[in-house]
Amino acid sequence: MSDLENLSGITPKTLENLAKLNITSIFDLLFHLPLRYNDRTVITNIGDIVYNSELQVIGRVYNAKVVYGRRRMMTVTLLDDTGEITLRFFHFSNSQLKGLADGKRVICFGEARRSRGRIEMVHPQYRVLQDHESVTLPDSLEPVYPTTKGLQQKRLRTLIENALKWAGKNYPQFDDVLQGMQDRFIDDKPMLNALNEVHRPDVDSDKQSLFTRKHPAQKQLVFDELLAHHLSIMKIRLRSDQRKGYKLESNNHLVASLLENLDFEMTSAQKKVLQEIRHDMNCEHPMMRLVQGDVGSGKTVVALVACLYAVENNYQAAIMAPTELLAEQHYRYFTNQLLPLGVQVAWLSSGLPSKKKRQMLELIASGTASVVVGTHALFQEGVAFKNLALSITDEQHRFGVQQRLQLSQKGSADTVFPHQLTMTATPIPRTLAMSMYAHLDYSVIDELPPGRKPISTVAIADTRRDDVIERIKAACRAGAQAYWVCSLIEESDALQSQAATETHAHLQVQLNELNIGLLHGRMKSAEKEQVMQDFMHKKIHVLVATTVIEVGVDVANASLMVIENAERFGLAQLHQLRGRVGRGDKQSSCVLLYKTPLGDLAKKRLDALRNTTDGFEIARIDLELRGPGEVLGTKQSGDMQMRIANLSKDLALLPEVQKAARWVIENHPERVEIVLKRWLGHAVEYANA
Ligand code: ADP
Ligand code: MG
Repeated sequence: MSDLENLSGITPKTLENLAKLNITSIFDLLFHLPLRYNDRTVITNIGDIVYNSELQVIGRVYNAKVVYGRRRMMTVTLLDDTGEITLRFFHFSNSQLKGLADGKRVICFGEARRSRGRIEMVHPQYRVLQDHESVTLPDSLEPVYPTTKGLQQKRLRTLIENALKWAGKNYPQFDDVLQGMQDRFIDDKPMLNALNEVHRPDVDSDKQSLFTRKHPAQKQLVFDELLAHHLSIMKIRLRSDQRKGYKLESNNHLVASLLENLDFEMTSAQKKVLQEIRHDMNCEHPMMRLVQGDVGSGKTVVALVACLYAVENNYQAAIMAPTELLAEQHYRYFTNQLLPLGVQVAWLSSGLPSKKKRQMLELIASGTASVVVGTHALFQEGVAFKNLALSITDEQHRFGVQQRLQLSQKGSADTVFPHQLTMTATPIPRTLAMSMYAHLDYSVIDELPPGRKPISTVAIADTRRDDVIERIKAACRAGAQAYWVCSLIEESDALQSQAATETHAHLQVQLNELNIGLLHGRMKSAEKEQVMQDFMHKKIHVLVATTVIEVGVDVANASLMVIENAERFGLAQLHQLRGRVGRGDKQSSCVLLYKTPLGDLAKKRLDALRNTTDGFEIARIDLELRGPGEVLGTKQSGDMQMRIANLSKDLALLPEVQKAARWVIENHPERVEIVLKRWLGHAVEYANA
């Protein structure tokens, strides 16, 4: 039963309507905050009206009538000592018209606009005053809430008012959890006062700051919500730190042979990160580490070595990639590297035929396969590991929250929990990372392998497409390989595939002496695999592809990248796509083909890409152009469904939030639940998963 029933006048129908607004408890109701406010605390002289603002006037009716124009409507003129205004109604009744007899006094609230040189209001709210009625103005602004059909604004206001009264008597959860903290950022009033102020701001409050969401009471609520989220993430870590992990000794026999077999030496950044990982895996508790490294910085081999740390101790390791193409590539790479060492690798994806799948599951369950590579099929039910000690998520930002949670739960039926390593190329700003990933330790591979030449990037209008094709012809004749990425951003897989198929057909004609391959999401796994193999073995000169190749794909000989409709892509995605070249010692180039005219923002993106190849710099510019909500992407922001805080607008608060969260945990761990409960309610269980 919902505690909403404690409020007076709640009917099943009200509950139903409230549920449509996601309000199922008094808490929800209290945090259902106004979208905006009506200011009925003052009367404006008609002569002082500022256009396009909401205001309240009192005037006498003159000539209310029905007008038959394109639409039937009622018009009413109101006069005061300073001027006149026209009211316009498209929906009205006869009795309404009758009530508006000449000379009646009317109080009226609405948005004043200018129309044909006159002031008017369309469908204002109004009330006809009694003959000698003196008007008392309210002393607080009137909140306007998001509402739904069947639930009137007025009714919702009353409900929320009742909720505020009820909460005052019944909710100790509104305690100030930062009580006692020195130098606190916001000098909190009791939470309930802040809520009261936001719901019913009094006449004297700073309206401008309220309207722009900068009022101290609003800030306090935002701060508190961010604090709740931060604490919920830190809790994941605290709990993990109490769990038992696999304390893995380093004996090095496999790792040493692997390193010997590699045809390069690890960069010092890779070595440093591996040391951090090895240290974590040698601890009593499960590792929780995020490795960030720009495209091409060599994360795969780091993952490979980490797997061997587990295998050397006779445990299993698993690595999961977001696309089948990338998982397959990892599988090939891992098999090539590990089979010579006598380490068996299993493969799992949802596209696997059932017989093959059974075999793989058997290899995994028996422990015959020490390393398992796959897509998210890896953590679906029915996959039982013998003794999984390490799980790695590659390109973590591509997975949904739910998927990540599932993986982290693998093996958790046991009393010992696997180490967790996540990898991502998408650099996010530090303040944001520290907040989103407060539960993770953080390593950066801040160096590219030696000998990489910066990719030269040009932006070319697609009217010069033929020049580009000529250039590719010449380069491929000389032994180069190219990607040609066709894009239809946010269109269906089917349309993307179609676009690629058409481009493929054209290029086959225009470059008839070269081999042109095609890769898109609609092809069968085996076909995709064959095309990738052919490209890798240089049987294909130009690979026409959709964005399926965006993440992870690694063919070192490919040195040319053409991106069609580059103006439609976001910066991060362009950077990832471009990162498919420049992976060997060849001078690589990237051509951004765009359709004219180029919009302002698109131009800025292409400029940024031409000017730098540094992923962190690109992330910084991306943040500037789009704001953090967007930068995180929908999947990521799904982690943080917030009621009133907004990462884009409230980024600047994060460092203070972190400080406060640490203070609570260190000084008053018992208060953590108070904050979580008031903001996350039943979501708390989820965050604890
Ligand atoms: P990413 O960080 O984008 O996942 P990859 O792991 O795919 O990068 O590595 C990119 C390329 O660089 C691969 O071909 C890989 O073999 C190569 N590579 C990785 N580390 C080194 C190194 N230390 N020296 C030279 N080449 C390296
Ligand atoms: Mg990678």
